[in-house]
Amino acid sequence: MSGTVSLVGTEDPRPWGRAGKRVLIVYAHQEPKSMNGSLKDAAVTELSIQGCQVTVSDLYAMNFEPRATKKDFAGPLNNSDFFNYGVEAHSAYKKGFLSSDVIEEQKKVQEADLIIFQFPLYWFSVPAIMKGWMDRVLCQGFAFDFPECFDRGFLQNKLALISFTTGGDAELYSKTGLSGDIKYVLWPLQHGVLHFCGFKVLAPQVTFAPEYSSEDKRKEMVESWARRLETIWKEKPINCTPSWYFE
Ligand SMILES: Cc1cc2nc3c(=O)[nH]c(=O)nc-3n(C[C@H](O)[C@H](O)[C@H](O)COP(=O)(O)OP(=O)(O)OC[C@H]3O[C@@H](n4cnc5c(N)ncnc54)[C@H](O)[C@@H]3O)c2cc1C
Repeated sequence: MSGTVSLVGTEDPRPWGRAGKRVLIVYAHQEPKSMNGSLKDAAVTELSIQGCQVTVSDLYAMNFEPRATKKDFAGPLNNSDFFNYGVEAHSAYKKGFLSSDVIEEQKKVQEADLIIFQFPLYWFSVPAIMKGWMDRVLCQGFAFDFPECFDRGFLQNKLALISFTTGGDAELYSKTGLSGDIKYVLWPLQHGVLHFCGFKVLAPQVTFAPEYSSEDKRKEMVESWARRLETIWKEKPINCTPSWYFE
């Protein structure tokens, strides 16, 4: 964090920060001392200094249920002869029948100006527990509808950012690397999930291969995330269209 800022005599210690902004961090790691744990803690610290209200959904600690099942509906099913999760979730949302854990997360999303997803890359995607959060929380009627999707999605007044660690290094995830450009991995998450729900997507924070980096390098990775967050509210969203990913 910058050492040049005087904290004396100002109500907002980071004048370029946004006191009063609300941030939800959806966090998936089993180990608090992990790199992901450190990145999450750095975000909580920096955003709190700015005067933001930060809420963390620590999915493993919450024992968050990732499975999308009939248990998600507190009221009678629309069609008990043929179960269609998406249809039932849409209907339960409208009737107020969703289970309390989903309603709680939707409330956090509704209140947030910015949502940060913090996770280790699992099979080119989010860990199952975070995918379950997306499956269950971002239901039709709440996050999107038809034709209210993409730029017209219901969460269009919110920012989203994915911050993740990888096993592979930056070269592996380059255009000529074995895994291809990291942007290809981002397409389903940033475009298929976040943009679909209307979010304005900020550039991702990719922390490459912390396990294979030196202690000093790892400290630098955490510090650079904290430094970026100092001016996060000034950032413009990416142009979340196929050309950003594939050209
Ligand atoms: C099921 C599964 C699927 C996977 N799929 C993929 C895949 O598709 N692609 C891919 O690239 N990788 C994949 N991986 C690898 C995975 O993405 C990495 O193991 C993970 O991202 C590393 O992050 P971590 O937080 O778990 O690291 P950790 O092992 O927790 O951290 C690395 C080191 O950093 C240290 N550390 C923590 N905080 C600090 C700090 N503040 N300062 C300095 N050091 C610190 C820790 O002590 C540790 O020694 C997969 C892993 C699994 C289990």
